[in-house]
Amino acid sequence: MISKRSLSIDSSGIRRVFDLAQKIKDPINLSIGQPDFDASEQVKSAAKQAIDSGKNTYTLTQGISALRQEVASQYGLDLNLPDAQNSVIITSGVSGGLLLSYLAVLDPGDEILIPDPFFCMYRDLAKLINAQPVYYDCYPEFKLPLEEIESKVSPRTKAIIINTPCNPTGSVTAENELTSLIEILRKKNILLIYDEIYSCYSYDQTHVNVFGRYEQTIILNGFSKSHAIPGWRVGYAVGAAALINEMCKIQQYSFVCAPSIAQYSLAGNVTLENTSITDTYRAKRDFICSALAGKYEFVQPRGAFYLFPKAPGSSGQAFVEKCIENKLLVVPGNVFSERDSHFRISFAAPLATLERGAKVLLKLA
Ligand code: PMP
Repeated sequence: MISKRSLSIDSSGIRRVFDLAQKIKDPINLSIGQPDFDASEQVKSAAKQAIDSGKNTYTLTQGISALRQEVASQYGLDLNLPDAQNSVIITSGVSGGLLLSYLAVLDPGDEILIPDPFFCMYRDLAKLINAQPVYYDCYPEFKLPLEEIESKVSPRTKAIIINTPCNPTGSVTAENELTSLIEILRKKNILLIYDEIYSCYSYDQTHVNVFGRYEQTIILNGFSKSHAIPGWRVGYAVGAAALINEMCKIQQYSFVCAPSIAQYSLAGNVTLENTSITDTYRAKRDFICSALAGKYEFVQPRGAFYLFPKAPGSSGQAFVEKCIENKLLVVPGNVFSERDSHFRISFAAPLATLERGAKVLLKLA
């Protein structure tokens, strides 16, 4: 009964940690990939108002004009220019944007270059549509391996994903790395899918904006991390009009539109690039890094809210089991990688939780 397509993927390892968390009394939860603050009062009350004022219908497939306009101006794009109307779509989260972009460009057997370590959806969505994920190896420094990327391009390579700041490593792509990458992609006519969902969490430099640098680009961003509304399912894609147009067609027959209430409550009520949280999260980053310095091997994250240290012993999985015995929930690196050598700590947690977590980690080091 079940399709081979569905059987080809496994349920996420993060979810397994999530399930375990339900069973442990008073766990120290450093496994979660969402901010530890709540949505703003302004956005919450706008959502209630949207419901009460009847914004409960379908919206345009591509999203309501006011929100699209705001997204466009964030990138300096004038929606009134010819073609610009087709350059922005509001999606059901970046997850929705990823699925639509994969479906718009990848045929069965086509290859997509993805980083290793990776956000797991990059791999599993490819498998789900019979496309081939081809990994570029970012260990041990978590920098873009440009030569390797070039050498892995084949006649079937259609796209590459860049995730900056990165889940799970916290690495960020530098301006000059991006310039060199674009030279390679331009030569080979490869689509750049630029997942910048953690753009507000860039601690040591300004986030690199790729808009307008290479025609074959789709930028994916959203509100889950920046505005602490991951449950509202709203994000956006900006870029190559021909592709966004296809994504819109597919949205029409799948998601239909992004949630209307979320769209109406965000339009006019938020600054897209919400940098008010950056300082707080930088302090959390600094705390966990200095607590573990010298005891764990890791590259200091420059963005997102994750640390990806090497696991003591030879297996990330085995080490995480030890952590769980001590009530500490972290995620084994093999959820995000073909390797099982590391583990992921989320520092999107209150300082008191980070302190408890650090104590356990220092004991286990
Ligand atoms: N991309 C990355 C790198 C992520 O970490 C996540 C969420 N964990 C997503 C995309 C999906 O986010 P959402 O669908 O909530 O916008």
